[in-house]
Amino acid sequence: MYCDLHAHSTASDGTDAPADLPKLAKQAGLSAIALTDHDTTSGIPEFLAAAKRARIKAVPGIELSADPAIIHNTADNTHDDTPRVGTLHILGYFIKPDAPHLAEVQERLLNAREQRNPQMIDRLNELGMVIKYEEVTEAAGGQIVGRPHIGQIMMEKGYVKSIHEAFARYLGSQGEAYIRKDRLSAEEAIEAIHEAEGLAVLAHPTQLGLETPSQLEHAVARLKTLGLDGIETRHSDHTPRDTQLFTRLANKLGLTPTGGSDYHGSRKTLDLGSQKVPIDVYENLLDAHRQRVGA
Ligand SMILES: [Zn+2]
Ligand SMILES: [Zn+2]
Repeated sequence: MYCDLHAHSTASDGTDAPADLPKLAKQAGLSAIALTDHDTTSGIPEFLAAAKRARIKAVPGIELSADPAIIHNTADNTHDDTPRVGTLHILGYFIKPDAPHLAEVQERLLNAREQRNPQMIDRLNELGMVIKYEEVTEAAGGQIVGRPHIGQIMMEKGYVKSIHEAFARYLGSQGEAYIRKDRLSAEEAIEAIHEAEGLAVLAHPTQLGLETPSQLEHAVARLKTLGLDGIETRHSDHTPRDTQLFTRLANKLGLTPTGGSDYHGSRKTLDLGSQKVPIDVYENLLDAHRQRVGA
């Protein structure tokens, strides 16, 4: 018996509706599945209702993106000033989808996404460049608007000679028109999940981009002091050696191991259930949650 504790739906960037995932999981021979959309709980009610109909165990979850700064500040590379580009995703399991603090966090992330580009365009306007937000959305042609689209318009209007120059002088993190991405700190992400009565789990640790096992241990231990409950040991990005390393770390630090495919439907070629995560992993997570909420 197997489970898959990491799956995305159309509520974020997956291609299957939240209501279709339980049926698909059942077809893949799974006994339990978690819905973990990026920064949103909006698919959970539909997902849970469908899971009931399909008679499969279901975990309401989320995957929050957090600022990886904390990882690098604590790793033993303090003499190195180069910016780090790792990814820090924190999974929340057995969350109450409508918990007020979690709702605030989702609202904040949504606003940040919607406001950052117009704010950067305002700065360019102040610097004397005549650029309208509509021109940029048009350049994006229905895609999510990003800095490259702003750079493209700057180039078309002759303010810069290349997208590279646009980033170097204006849009990059050292640029004059740069607006920092409003990101959750790791602490805020873990707190929001706990406030929603969930368990906080470090997703795909390889994506932190740390080079040595000791840096990794340092970072995970730091997250543990912030309240981290578990670590994703099995994931489509992990080699068997990675999984072994993370399992050892979970044991050492007293973290609950989890696992999943990170299924995104047809957007990525990963099958639901492909990580062959034993159902015990789900049962242990459920136990850890019961202990946490005192049920
Ligand atoms: Zn992720
Ligand atoms: Zn994911």
